[in-house]
Amino acid sequence: MGWVDTHCHLQLDGRDPAQLLARAEDVDWMVAPGVDLESSKAARDLALRFPGRVLATSGLHPHDAELWPEQGEGIVGLASEASAIGETGLDFYRNLASREDQISAFRQQIALAAELGKPIIVHCRDAFAEIFEIIEETGIGPRSVLHCWTGGPRWTKRFLTLGVMFSFAGPVAFLTGDTVRLGAAEVPPERAMVETDTPYLAPPPHRGEPNEPAWVALVGAALAGVWGMSVDEAAAVTSANATRVFRT
Ligand SMILES: [Zn+2]
Repeated sequence: MGWVDTHCHLQLDGRDPAQLLARAEDVDWMVAPGVDLESSKAARDLALRFPGRVLATSGLHPHDAELWPEQGEGIVGLASEASAIGETGLDFYRNLASREDQISAFRQQIALAAELGKPIIVHCRDAFAEIFEIIEETGIGPRSVLHCWTGGPRWTKRFLTLGVMFSFAGPVAFLTGDTVRLGAAEVPPERAMVETDTPYLAPPPHRGEPNEPAWVALVGAALAGVWGMSVDEAAAVTSANATRVFRT
């Protein structure tokens, strides 16, 4: 059965990507998001090395948003051959960059995605209201992928009205993931995808270990449980959605 891991940073932690790919035999293909200029280049290189199996994105993570003036040009330069823009978004939990810089870099990357007609991968942590407002105002909703979605039912229902796609990660399988599962229950399967966010957020029974694409099936199984469908059906629908979003 073929899964698609829509968010795995294969290039970030120094492990051999060929080994991670070999172990992920149930994963048809995956998306490696850039988080800054260097990792966007590394993602591009992986896409060239594993054609069709790894897709690359170009973007600047909110943690490093203050680097946009210096790296933006390079990230824009990689964007036309990338499969999506991002990882961008807002993180008002860790606040590693100022809110102003995060919002500015997010808006520039939204404009880039709109101009190129590409999807945009959005990181959202403690910034639901601000992200909702920016997506609504810019009209980028139908191109937006809300990665590692952890919203509860209320925010999930609100974001659904914007036409976004939701990508679920390890938290939907966590013992403590009841809110995430209640949110996921509100998402029609044709609006959802799955991811690992490798090397972070490994699902049970691997919590604490470096995550890897092979474990996307554990995320998918948790989501299938929420929806009351078979694991095969969940793989089929989420993979078809990923193809529609990233490959058409
Ligand atoms: Zn990420």
